[in-house]
Amino acid sequence: MKRIVYQIFVYVFLAMFLVTSAMFIYELASSSTFNVWAILCLVLSLAALVGFVLNQVFYRQFGEKDETRYEKKECPHCHTKNDKDAPFCKNCGKDI
Ligand SMILES: [Zn+2]
Repeated sequence: MKRIVYQIFVYVFLAMFLVTSAMFIYELASSSTFNVWAILCLVLSLAALVGFVLNQVFYRQFGEKDETRYEKKECPHCHTKNDKDAPFCKNCGKDI
């Protein structure tokens, strides 16, 4: 998962949670009893919260790992692209 997609999901879930919880409070304040809309808003805000947490978990498991796996370090001597955690250059063998 790309970082920008993750950030879009974070903002979407946060906005969804804020809107639905505000609607839930408004519904309870205006009717003072649990009605269908209030329950629907509560369910949606909980779903947004669960989606937000799941999004973070999936990003930590796949997104960050993928990003660091493809990250490259350039050799200062011959400018060959090496793996990020490589101690020596694969082309000239010098310490990087
Ligand atoms: Zn090199």
